Amino acid sequence: MPNIPRGQKDYYYILGVDENATVDEIKRAYRKLAMEHHPDRNPGNPDSEQKFKEIAEAYAVLSDPQKRNRYDHGGFSNLEDMFGFGFGGTDPFEIFRSVVEGFSGFPFGGGESYSTGKRVTRGNDLKASVELTLEEISEGVEKTLKVKRQDRCDECKGSGIPPDAEVKVCETCKGRGQVKKVSEFLLGHSIRIITCPDCGGRGKIPSDFCKKCRGSGRQKIEDEIKIKFPAGVKEGNYVVVDGKGDVGPQNGPPGVLIAFVKEKKHPHFVRREDNLLYQKSINFSQAALGTKVKVPTLNSDKELKIPPGTQTGDIFKFKNDGIPHVNSGGRGDLIVRVTVITPTKLTKEEKKLFENLKELQGDKVPEIEDDYLKKIRDFFGI
Ligand SMILES: [Zn+2]
Ligand SMILES: [Zn+2]
Repeated sequence: MPNIPRGQKDYYYILGVDENATVDEIKRAYRKLAMEHHPDRNPGNPDSEQKFKEIAEAYAVLSDPQKRNRYDHGGFSNLEDMFGFGFGGTDPFEIFRSVVEGFSGFPFGGGESYSTGKRVTRGNDLKASVELTLEEISEGVEKTLKVKRQDRCDECKGSGIPPDAEVKVCETCKGRGQVKKVSEFLLGHSIRIITCPDCGGRGKIPSDFCKKCRGSGRQKIEDEIKIKFPAGVKEGNYVVVDGKGDVGPQNGPPGVLIAFVKEKKHPHFVRREDNLLYQKSINFSQAALGTKVKVPTLNSDKELKIPPGTQTGDIFKFKNDGIPHVNSGGRGDLIVRVTVITPTKLTKEEKKLFENLKELQGDKVPEIEDDYLKKIRDFFGI
């Protein structure tokens, strides 16, 4: 059990693990905290951002047996030797990507890269929803989407500084774009790296800013983006388009555009998984004598043979006339449910015929097969 004062940063405390924690426990603790404090989940919250960096730093040290050993036996001063100041060479987003993203698959965007020393902010990810008809889903479709997004300012090529401006290196941060901030506490002090307040992270101070973008390096544009949706997608699925989110300020890399599928209601069909449900009404004589009726599919009409004695609730299946499976070959089915409609308005002649039939049948009701009762039970869920 190491018992040497570690100075200002207790990595075990930061991750909330005890000093005998296994690598797995450290990983789990990091993963939980990183998900919680990721800047994408806490936009505009500098405390979370700071915490996110701190836990990455703690993880980088404690997950590496060699670094952990040196840390345990000397604390922070040794790490300064190893890394330079604090993070040098440790990108919190890189750590997040390797530990968490591979694990959860959640499309996190962005943030900052510390590997260059300069502050580089990735642009925001954008979300859009695209309405698709079942016909489009059945075939797969390419859609053109109009998206308002931040693009590079064409006046200053994204730098925020006009080409003829004079540029001086920022003296406060010596061009690094970041400075150390030391806060005093009762039990010591903490050292944080923050964006240089004098140059806003640029590392340089220009004599003038771009008039068009007022130094942000970005301009709002309406972009037309083509997106391919494969056959078989469903509500809530999404396609990620690289580079079509907002660009970051001052030539920061762009985020992604996430286009969510919204399924448009179809006038005839209801989708259940990859099957299509269709309801077909027939009349008494068709049901009693049997007939052939037309049933629509997504691309043509099909003929359905109604056998004599068909009941309301009877189900007929057209194999492979449903929606294609998105991840494998094959398709769902078209399922047709028949309803026998009792006439509500009879012509004189029809009425006469029914009266004749009534006389013939009297009170006699045809026997119902067991599976018909089962169908009714299934339909009402009883
Ligand atoms: Zn500009
Ligand atoms: Zn500066």
